[in-house]
Parts: sequence; structure tokens; C-alpha cells
Amino acid sequence: MNRDCNFYICATCFNVSETPITCHDQSMIHCRSLQPGDPRLKPLFDHEGDLKTSAPRWFIESLKQQQQI
Ligand SMILES: [Zn+2]
Repeated sequence: MNRDCNFYICATCFNVSETPITCHDQSMIHCRSLQPGDPRLKPLFDHEGDLKTSAPRWFIESLKQQQQI
């Protein structure tokens, strides 16, 4: 059984693909397999413990990297 999760997701419409394609005029975010319990699977909280976004950290980090290019 292949348990590898390896796909690409569009940050705008959340369309997913197994190959890196362009969606909404931007390249899709690469989603690698993360181990259960990986902190990057959890959402971001600010320093007061309030939920900043329900998106997981790996998604936010990828989005930031993409915007810096
Ligand atoms: Zn899209």
C-alpha cells in the first residue's frame, strides 16, 4: 500500500493535482507527506493562543515561500 501523500494544491481554489501545474496564474503548492503528529499539520495560533487561520502550517509556509519569489 502506498501511503505517500504527494500532491499539489492551488492556494486560490484548492484544486489538487498529482503533477505541478499552473492554476489561477500561479504554480501549485507542493504537499509532501508529513508524519502524523507533525506540528506543521496543525493550524497557526498567535502568541495569545487565538486561532489565526484554520489552514495547516505547511500550507501557510508554502504560501509565504511562493510569495517571496
Ligand atoms: Zn486554482
